Amino acid sequence: MDKLRFKRVLFKLSGEALAGDKGFGIDPATVTTFCSEIAEAAAMGAEVALVIGGGNIFRGMSASASGMDRASADYMGMLATVMNAVAVQDALEKLGLSTRVLSAITMQEVCESYIRRRAIRHLEKGRVVICAAGTGNPYFTTDTAAALRAMELKCEVIIKGTKVNGVYDKDPKKFDDAVLFDRLTYMDVLERQLAVMDSTAISLAMDNRMPIVVFNMFEPGNLKRVITGQKAGTIVE
Ligand code: UDP
Repeated sequence: MDKLRFKRVLFKLSGEALAGDKGFGIDPATVTTFCSEIAEAAAMGAEVALVIGGGNIFRGMSASASGMDRASADYMGMLATVMNAVAVQDALEKLGLSTRVLSAITMQEVCESYIRRRAIRHLEKGRVVICAAGTGNPYFTTDTAAALRAMELKCEVIIKGTKVNGVYDKDPKKFDDAVLFDRLTYMDVLERQLAVMDSTAISLAMDNRMPIVVFNMFEPGNLKRVITGQKAGTIVE
């Protein structure tokens, strides 16, 4: 069996990724594809914590730009992440994994509340922990929630899946000559405003020396490559 480079990982899954080609809502086939990758990682002995975004359903910033109170809009965004978390939980359980959704906003009929020690216990028992509702606070994003949970849960790396092969100097979907970076420092990302994660999340990772791997999650086997330390995407450290 391949040796794990990272035993406990924090996987940030954006809401947009769950929408697949539809661009909005939840595409069950896409969710199942990601979940099979996660199942493969878990079968290898990796402890997986997921932070799920909500942008496929609702984004606070966009709603506040159209006149809605920002905090109210952000709470709607956080509720959207809970819907995604339940969808991912269902798909993971259909693949035979044991999971728990832990929400930063208490919703006891739907899922457990996020309690750090409980989350760590679930991971130790081999359950996939799905962190929902971001940080539980408006004005934050699920990227920042990912950085925060990675630290709290003593993960060794933040893994961020995207549609492209890693971090480029410019948008590879628009520019043919875009260059893919193998390795970057946190300062490179902040100074060049590279689209890795938002600046709050990057600063938090930098202050706590938490590496971030950005990789293409639409390529089968890539998550396994990342956790076994093979080359896949860009590492920020
Ligand atoms: N959100 C929030 N606080 C958090 C995390 C998320 O208020 O700690 C809200 C915010 O409105 C955000 C929405 O939830 O726009 C969905 O999260 P995000 O945009 O990070 O999702 P992604 O881009 O990963 O799909």
